[in-house]
Amino acid sequence: MLTGTCHCGDVRWALDSKPESVTACSCTICRRYGALWAYGHIDHDIQVSGPSKAYRRKDGGAIDFYFCPRCGCLTHYIATGPGEDGKRWTGVNLRMLEPDAIADLPIDHFDGLDTWDDLPRDGRTVRDMWF
Ligand SMILES: [Zn+2]
Repeated sequence: MLTGTCHCGDVRWALDSKPESVTACSCTICRRYGALWAYGHIDHDIQVSGPSKAYRRKDGGAIDFYFCPRCGCLTHYIATGPGEDGKRWTGVNLRMLEPDAIADLPIDHFDGLDTWDDLPRDGRTVRDMWF
């Protein structure tokens, strides 16, 4: 299990298992947040606790971004509605982890700005972005 917390410790999430990669997305929100994502479903393989606030983009959007109202860290996002399986798609911001936990994971670059496609892996790992 991996457990991430915001800087002040009020908001925390737990991910059942270590992901095989992390995702960096170039969309208008993710590039501002600088988030590195891993995915799952809230209350299934992802648990979140603590008081958070949500941000939803003005033009709608299918997910709410959650942040700590005290220290401002973006901790996770949750789909605004369930998928066909009844679960709500969730992303956790892996930057809330201690670096060693994920330093060796490869980065998947997702072009959320233009093509909505995964770009080919370029060999970079979290260590290359983070240290
Ligand atoms: Zn906090």
